[in-house]
Amino acid sequence: THFGFETVSEEEKAERVYQVFESVAQKYDVMNDAMSLGVHRLWKDALLHVMNPSPGTRLLDTAGGTGDISFRFLEYVRSQEARRAWRAAPSHQTPSWQQISASYQTGRLGTGDGALAVVCDINKQMLKVGRQRAVDLGFSTGLSWVVGNAEELPFDDDSFDIYSIAFGIRNVTHIEQALQEAHRVLKPGGRFLCLEFSRVSNPLLSRLYDTYSFQLIPVLGEVIAGDWKSYQYLVESIRRFPDQEEFKALIEDAGFYKVQFHNLTGGVVAIHSGFKL
Ligand code: SAM
Repeated sequence: THFGFETVSEEEKAERVYQVFESVAQKYDVMNDAMSLGVHRLWKDALLHVMNPSPGTRLLDTAGGTGDISFRFLEYVRSQEARRAWRAAPSHQTPSWQQISASYQTGRLGTGDGALAVVCDINKQMLKVGRQRAVDLGFSTGLSWVVGNAEELPFDDDSFDIYSIAFGIRNVTHIEQALQEAHRVLKPGGRFLCLEFSRVSNPLLSRLYDTYSFQLIPVLGEVIAGDWKSYQYLVESIRRFPDQEEFKALIEDAGFYKVQFHNLTGGVVAIHSGFKL
């Protein structure tokens, strides 16, 4: 298999991917903002928009790292719950929308009707940073942190309403196996969602993007995180990942139905989705 553009054994790839995230964990969130100029936040918001979860949903956020998708998920379901409570209140003046919304966001009121986000990641260090962020952001309920491999998930069959994986699947050694595991742990009717770097089709944008990512990202990695190699791997792993149509076919092969994708930023990133019947 490959680690970036290097040919390595499968065990070695898994080990090296582990080391990359072990080494970037503390700086991971700062680096995401720096490398994408903050745009990763919009891509993640777009994923939530497509997901559109309702209160009571059980989400498995695989390769969930420091929790970005799960935090957005809880904010989303809680704001829906807050909206409901506000509409049901006798007067729209007391409490104000701002008061009620803030109480729900911090988990002081409501839990998204028992909504749960399970953040599963192979790397303890990433989860540790995520747990601390959850405390800092004031999330007290609705989150669970589990160390686990996307290729061999530590969950029962038919357990989740939604499976998400954001910028994670390209790091997995056996993509097909991870997709089969996603299918196994989803309930019938459950939804698979993947946010991942993909292929830019516009030649001009593609040239610009190549120059930016190959020449600038490793430099930013060195300057901000003191880690050229990890960021070079990240860029190379993006180039190795299947394009939109190839990845769609892999998802269908794993047994999902109604598989589709939406490109974001001209295909720099794509959201793939599908259902388990
Ligand atoms: N989803 C988060 C986000 O969007 O910010 C984190 C993405 S980060 C680029 C990739 C994550 O995938 C890392 O936290 C890494 O530890 C995790 N990862 C890599 N291989 C994995 C595997 N086989 N199973 C589970 N997680 C894995």
